[in-house]
Amino acid sequence: MNVLVINCGSSSLKFQLINSDTEAVLAKGLCERIGIDGRLTYQPADGEKAVSDKAMPSHTEAIQFVIDALTDKETGVVKELSEIGAVGHRVVHGGEKFSQSVVVTPEVKKAIEECNDLAPLHNPANLIGIDACESLMPGTPMVAVFDTAFHQTMPEKAYTYGLPYEYYEKYKVRRYGFHGTSHSFVSKRTAEFLGKPYDATKTIVCHLGNGSSISAVLNGKSVDTSMGLTPLEGLVMGTRSGDMDPAIMEFIAKKENLDIAGVMNVLNKKSGVEGISGVSSDFRDLASAAGEGNKRAELALEVFAYRVAKYVGSYVAAMNGVDNIAFTAGIGENDCGMRTKICSYLGYLGIAIDEEANGKRGEEIVISTPDSKVTVLVIPTNEELAIARETVALV
Ligand code: AMP
Repeated sequence: MNVLVINCGSSSLKFQLINSDTEAVLAKGLCERIGIDGRLTYQPADGEKAVSDKAMPSHTEAIQFVIDALTDKETGVVKELSEIGAVGHRVVHGGEKFSQSVVVTPEVKKAIEECNDLAPLHNPANLIGIDACESLMPGTPMVAVFDTAFHQTMPEKAYTYGLPYEYYEKYKVRRYGFHGTSHSFVSKRTAEFLGKPYDATKTIVCHLGNGSSISAVLNGKSVDTSMGLTPLEGLVMGTRSGDMDPAIMEFIAKKENLDIAGVMNVLNKKSGVEGISGVSSDFRDLASAAGEGNKRAELALEVFAYRVAKYVGSYVAAMNGVDNIAFTAGIGENDCGMRTKICSYLGYLGIAIDEEANGKRGEEIVISTPDSKVTVLVIPTNEELAIARETVALV
C-alpha cells in the first residue's frame, strides 16, 4: 500500500509518499508560505527536485498541489489518487486522550481539538491538514500519529510537577513529552539491531536535533522524558532554553520590560545555543566558530553536552541502570565531536568509545568498544517511516 505521510504546520506542510511493502520513499516534498503566497518543493525518488511558486491561500490548495504532483503524468509516482491507500498525519499533542495512534473519526478530531490548548501553534494546523485531506481524498482512511503517545506510559511520579495538584486536575498540567514517534522507533530499532529483546532492555534515547529531547525506555516503555507540558523543557536546544529557574521569567520581564508573550518568545526563539553563542542554532556553525576561537560558541557546545550528560545520569537512576544509549536526529546522527564530548562525562558507567566507529556517518552503528559496559550506538531516526508503519497497521 502507498501511504501519504503529512506533517502539517501553520504555514508549511511536509509530505512523503511511502510504499509500505518495500518501505521505499516514492516521492517527498514541502509546501511553504501557505496563506502568504506559496511554494512547492517536490522530489520523486528517481527524479530531479523541482521548486515552483503556486498560490496557496490555504492548506487545501497546498494538498491539491501535492496530489497533482504525485499524480502528474511526467514526474508523478502514481497514476491516480486511488493508488494512495491511506494518509498518516503527524499530530503534535494527544494529551492524555491518546496513548497510541488512531484512525481519524469525527470523535477523534473533536478530541484532538480539545488538546488545542496544550499545543496552540501545532494542533490546529494538524487538524487543518486532516480536514484538507479528507475533503480532497474522500473515502481514503486517515490515521493520526501523536508525538506524545509513546510517553503516555510514564508513571505518575515522572509526569507530576511540583505545582498545586488542582492545575493537573483542572487543566491537565503535567509532563507529556514529545518526539515520541522517534523515541519509539529508535528504542525499538536499537533492540532489533543488537538482537536483544525489546521488552527486557534499558535504553536511553538521545534525540538531538534543532529540538532535542531524551527518553528513558525501560522494557519497551517510556518511563521518563525531558520535554514537558510543552517542548520548552529539558535540554538546551537550538533556540530553546530548556530547564532554567522559573523565577528568571519575572526577573527578565522586569529588566527588559517584556510581557509574558515577550518572555516566551525569548525562551523559545532566542535562547539555547543560539542565545548563548550569539552565532547560530546550527551546530556546524558553532563548531566552526569554536574552531576559530569564538569562546561563546565553545561555551554553547559545552553547555549543551553537559546538560545531555546530566540527563543521561538522571535516567540511569530512573531505570536503575542502562544497557544502551542511542544517539539520533540531526546532531545525534552527524556530530561525532558532540557525541565524544557527551560520552566523555560517562566514563563512570564503564563507557568507552571507539573513535573510528564514531567517525562514520549515516548508518546504524555501535560506537562503543566491545568491552564498554554500556552499548552506545547511532540509530538514524525515521519518523515518516514510523508514521507510515503505524498507519498501515491500523487500516
Ligand atoms: P533535525 O532537527 O533533527 O533536523 O536536526 C537539525 C540540526 O542538526 C541542525 O540545526 C544542525 O545543528 C544539526 N546538524 C545537521 N548536520 C550536522 C553535522 N554534519 N554536524 C553537526 N550538526 C549537524
